Order: sequence, then C-alpha cells, then structure tokens
Amino acid sequence: MSDFPYWWLIALPVFFGLGWLAARIDIKHVLSETRSLPAAYFKGLNFLLNGQTNQAVDVYVDIARHHAETVDLQFTLGHLFRRRGELERAIRMHQKLLARRDLTDTQKQSAQFELAKDFLKAGLFDRAESLLTELQNTEYARQARSELLAVYQQEKDWQKAIDIAQQMRDESHSYQHEIAQFHCELAEQAFARSLPEPALEHLEAALAENRQCARAKLLLGEIAQAAGKVDDAIRLWLEIESQDVLALALVARKLLSAYDALGKNEEGTQLLMRLLQQYPELDVLDLVYERLMAQRGMDAAYEFVREQLKAHPTMPGLRKVLEAHLLVAPDEQKYELEIIGKLLTEATREQTLYYCSTCGFKARQYFWHCPACSEWETYPPVRGRKNRGAA
Ligand SMILES: [Zn+2]
Repeated sequence: MSDFPYWWLIALPVFFGLGWLAARIDIKHVLSETRSLPAAYFKGLNFLLNGQTNQAVDVYVDIARHHAETVDLQFTLGHLFRRRGELERAIRMHQKLLARRDLTDTQKQSAQFELAKDFLKAGLFDRAESLLTELQNTEYARQARSELLAVYQQEKDWQKAIDIAQQMRDESHSYQHEIAQFHCELAEQAFARSLPEPALEHLEAALAENRQCARAKLLLGEIAQAAGKVDDAIRLWLEIESQDVLALALVARKLLSAYDALGKNEEGTQLLMRLLQQYPELDVLDLVYERLMAQRGMDAAYEFVREQLKAHPTMPGLRKVLEAHLLVAPDEQKYELEIIGKLLTEATREQTLYYCSTCGFKARQYFWHCPACSEWETYPPVRGRKNRGAA
C-alpha cells in the first residue's frame, strides 16, 4: 500500500482543470471567429457542400463587396470562377489579389500560382509559364514545376520537359519513364525531319534513362531500316523481347516486312509462330492467321488457330477459329456459323481496343502517351487488356 503514488491525487484535479481551461479558450476563440463572419458565409458554404457552385458564387460575391478585406474569400471566389469555367473573372480576381499591398509573401505566391492555373486553363501557356518560372525558389516550387511539366508536354516542348523533370526527380518519383519518353518524342521529331544523327543521340539518352524503354528500340529499328540496314533493324526489334515482351506485338508487322525484304518470308512466319507459342498473350494472333492464310492457305491457317485456341482459350481466339471455320465449312452450316460469328464479334468488340490502365480511355490505335489523362506508358500493348500487369 505504501507504494501507491499519492501525488496523483493532487495532480489529477490539476490536469482536469487545465483541460477545462483549454476547452474554454478554444470555444471562446471559435465564438469570436464566428461572430466576425457574416451569416451569409455559411449560406455560401452550404451551397458549396451541396454542389451548387453558382449560388455559392452569388453569395460570396455579395460578401466580398461588403468585406473587401477578406483575402481568403477572394481566393475562394477565384477558385470557384475557374471551376465554373469563368476564366476571365477568375483571372481578374487573382490579378486584383496580386495588386494588393497587404499580402504576405506566401499569399502573394499563392495568388500568383492560382493566376498561373487560370492562364493554363485558358490556354495562355506563355503567361502561365512566366508566372510559374518566377515561383521556382518559393514554397510553391514543386507545385509550379509540376504545372510547368504539364505546360511543356502540352506544348510538346520536350527539351524543357526533360529539364524540369530532371529537377523534379526524387526518391518518390524518378521520372525515368517520362524522361525516356520525352527523348523518344525528340527522336521522332528529328527522324521525321530526316535527321537520323540527333535522333540516334536521343534514343541512346532514352535507353540510358530507362533500359527497358521498348519505344526507343522500336525507333532505333525504324532508323536502321530506313538506312537500309534491315538485319540491324530485325536485331533491334527482337531485343524488345528482353525488355517488354508483349510490346513485340507493336513491331510484329514491321518485323515480317523486314524478313520479307530479305527474302526470308518463311523465317518471319516461323519466328512469329514460335513467339506466339512461347507467349500466348502476345497480341499477334490476327497477324499470324493473316500470314498463314496468304502463305500456306486456309487449311493451315485454320489448323493453327485451332491449336492456338486449345492451348490458350480466349474469346478473340474463338472468334478467329470461327472465322476460319466459316471458310472451310459446308454450305449448309454457313448460315448458323455466320450468325454465331456476328454475335461473337459484337460481344468481343471491346477486346479489339487498347485501354489506358490509368483512366480507362479506349482507343483503336496504340498510345505511348494517353490523350485523355496524359500519363505515359499506361496502355498494355494487348488489345482488350485493361491492366498493365494482368490479363
Ligand atoms: Zn489515360
């Protein structure tokens, strides 16, 4: 009993007392704040919470007229105008804020950042760029760089995009994939202007940044092919197998034409068949089918797709088998087969498109840069597949 710490008996009420005092101070503070806010403020807040932006703006404009000193309210209004697409009003509000002399440095930078976002949304990239560049050494540096990166990508100013991404890289995001892709964009531009040398330099830089960059190998192969070095082109394209095997599908047609150019038609076909057997998910079934049909005839093509379906049953595989079967089937079966084929085509239409694994945007053509969400390398190179990892 003698070990009982009696001092607790005294300390407890003191602690309770302190808690009570703290709570009172807090409540007092809240009450004084509340009294200083016009009731309409809460009305506006209520509109906002209910998603009624228009009504909220009306209420806040009214308050701002009578309480010109409320900086935060001007920020809120500017934000709301921008969200509503009233960019001119948003710009005016943020410019008015910037012109105030009573702003702290942080408030000033915040207004500058908001104004830059207005300009961006209005498509006035030059003006946004200069405001964002001014924010480089402030608290808003990181956010400003991130917006600048978006600007440069939108303007396709890839060199500036590389510079800013390099400044932004840290442990949480290395920007390797993005920078490699920016170099690929520059390489494509140079190649399109018949400047293979700078194109090659950019592709080397892309691979130095990201060794797994399949697009760089694809372009290196194209440049080799254009220079008449068909063997090199084939070698480069085949190296994609060790980078991102499913991306081989993106060069499959080019590979076949390269083999054809060397007079090695059969070798090209064999290669593709071997790859498909080894990697059943490789999106080249249509191509191999088309190829076999042209080179070996319908029976061989039919046989191949049937074997393929047995080994790896998929809906597109089944559709292909039906398509082949229709060609060899006796006339009396054709009517039913055609109906089944039509229904199957209808049911698997979604599987003929590429999907962005980030935003779900679907497209007939393959994109390295999603036109909807602007992310890089988000499309699995397999039609119908929605995630980069799994089928
Ligand atoms: Zn997307």
